[in-house]
Amino acid sequence: MSTRLKIAIQKSGRLQEDSLKILKDCGISIDNGKDQLKAQARNFPLEVLYLRNSDIPEYVQDGVADIAIVGENVVIEKQKEVKVLQTLGFSKCRLKLAIPKDEEYTGLSYFNGKKIATSYPNSLCAFLKENNLDSEIHIISGSVEIAPNIGLSDGICDLVSSGSTLFKNGLKEVEQILSSEACLVSNKDISDEKQELLDNLLFRMKSVLAAKNNKYLLLNAPNDKIEAINNILPGMKSPTVMPLMQEGWSSIHTVIKDKDFWEVIDQLKANGAEGILTIPIGKMIL
Ligand code: ATP
Ligand code: MG
Repeated sequence: MSTRLKIAIQKSGRLQEDSLKILKDCGISIDNGKDQLKAQARNFPLEVLYLRNSDIPEYVQDGVADIAIVGENVVIEKQKEVKVLQTLGFSKCRLKLAIPKDEEYTGLSYFNGKKIATSYPNSLCAFLKENNLDSEIHIISGSVEIAPNIGLSDGICDLVSSGSTLFKNGLKEVEQILSSEACLVSNKDISDEKQELLDNLLFRMKSVLAAKNNKYLLLNAPNDKIEAINNILPGMKSPTVMPLMQEGWSSIHTVIKDKDFWEVIDQLKANGAEGILTIPIGKMIL
């Protein structure tokens, strides 16, 4: 049988949809029967294993899966030997310390002698050690945010994205322990054959991610402003300039980082740019 790469993704939960989406954007279609634990990709030598998020680092370490999509925070928490190959830009969150909002926060030493509830004891323990804090860790597996309200703990250490869960439970964030997003991880010893497949997959993922972070930009400008506009554009290479039917005007095309767009838009307008458009990019080969 020919070699197939085994990828673990979350069975159900926050990361699953975006994990399947990025594989799809990489041109990989997966027969997705409900409640399946395993599936084959139709057009790439890939086998998908649906596993629990919290089990994934161990399965990758042990080689049950070759690679996986998992939160960086889980990789850190589980302390397993895996390689982080690429961050994927979704499931962004932060591991935070929070306390009841009416408490006065006096700095890190506040936590000395306090009880902190968390589902992430290893990450919390490392943070406490680094900061020479002496707190009691109370491990609970879910709904950590209610612990202070029911007298289980003084504070919590939990994942936060918007912060609305903390807010609703009368808590405020006071310290950040780490920030996280979904990432692609691999086993430390991948065979040469699998490595070749992995390189191909990683190349596709990078192209998908680059496309997401960039936009194709078009604008019209008077010819005597082309140079000024070129100097403003933080584009890849030199932009394409094409004459318009209208005498003395050109159309300028380039690729721009999405995050840079709003920073240069006023300067572009001030330099006579008109008809400014951005278009999403499907794939971008680097
Ligand atoms: P399992 O799949 O093992 O049941 P789980 O129940 O912890 O794990 P989810 O709650 O679906 O799984 O997802 C948790 C992961 O989602 C976190 O480990 C983190 O990487 C990511 N995440 C992103 N934002 C948040 C958030 N606001 N709260 C919790 N997790 C978040
Ligand atoms: Mg769950």
